[in-house]
Amino acid sequence: MDEETDPPGQPAEHGVVCARCGTAAEGDTAPVTWLCAVEDGRRLLFCEGCARLHIRAIESRLDSLWW
Ligand SMILES: [Zn+2]
Repeated sequence: MDEETDPPGQPAEHGVVCARCGTAAEGDTAPVTWLCAVEDGRRLLFCEGCARLHIRAIESRLDSLWW
């Protein structure tokens, strides 16, 4: 289907919060500097700081979750 388009219209229950440190983003959508990852079928968001720490782990273990 579509490649990597985020499906619009997903209501945020309580704003955007970093899944790692709990930092809340300003506004209802994650800033472009935030990282979106999918783990165990769940969509997780990481703030800019956590994304830098986390992205290496994500990139180094693109396991069966993505296939
Ligand atoms: Zn964070």
